[in-house]
Amino acid sequence: MNSMSYEALQQMVDQSSRIVFFGGAGVSTESGIPDFRGVDGLYHQKYDYPPEEMLSHTFFVRKPEEFFRFYRDKMLPLDAKPNRAHLKLAQWEKEGKLIGIVTQNIDGLHQAAGSRKVFELHGSIHRNYCQSCGKSFSPEYIRDSRDPVPLCSCGGRIKPDVVLYEEGLDNDVVSGAVGVISKADLLIVAGTSLTVYPAAGLIRYFRGSHLVLINRDATPMDGEADLVIRDKVGEVLGSLT
Ligand code: NAD
Ligand code: ZN
Repeated sequence: MNSMSYEALQQMVDQSSRIVFFGGAGVSTESGIPDFRGVDGLYHQKYDYPPEEMLSHTFFVRKPEEFFRFYRDKMLPLDAKPNRAHLKLAQWEKEGKLIGIVTQNIDGLHQAAGSRKVFELHGSIHRNYCQSCGKSFSPEYIRDSRDPVPLCSCGGRIKPDVVLYEEGLDNDVVSGAVGVISKADLLIVAGTSLTVYPAAGLIRYFRGSHLVLINRDATPMDGEADLVIRDKVGEVLGSLT
């Protein structure tokens, strides 16, 4: 741990009144949810198909049983609890210092921690809709359904409201995210490999004074950050006031 960089970050946080946090799967690994590209990530585990293929729209349509086998097994961590990163961000929002969280995660842990201004670029496992009649279902329903592909009483197939590969992002969510990022004075980017587009491109809208990156592995944006911290995001944020 480099205490100098923690102090530098604390100072930026103290001076800031419009913090925005941009996060990815690495924000939830300390809650026990594996990321994709980290060392214990899903890309390093063995499946019949690579994760980005199983999480594609084509796969959902063509092989729904296999999609839901993987989805129930790996994408529905309903027992996970917010960690120190989620809790600190919720605290800053309550204190009026943080104006928004833009996340690539679909686990809902920011809201579980108490955050309200959350832009979920890739949707959420907590919303699920029948593709025929639009009825909504809980994630527990998806998990516990005995049908290999969860079905509505109308016979329609239920789809989680998550953005699969090949699908576009929701326009309102993107414009909300761009709105807060362009108003931020401090942008903290954490727990993301910054390789999934268009999400990663949104940090280009930042016009404020300090860009901070907290990530275990190097990212393509390291050279442009004012401060790079290579520790666990929960440990770093948890140590701040
Ligand atoms: P990624 O897996 O590509 O990258 C995660 C990054 O976080 C890695 O660079 C890793 O070094 C870093 N990291 C892991 N744990 C960390 C920690 N405790 N502290 C600091 N850094 C840590 O994730 P991504 O960039 O978010 O892209 C993956 C896509 O997969 C996203 O679009 C997201 O929707 C989805 N996804 C979501 C979840 C979730 O909701 N929790 C989990 C896995 C994947
Ligand atoms: Zn229905």
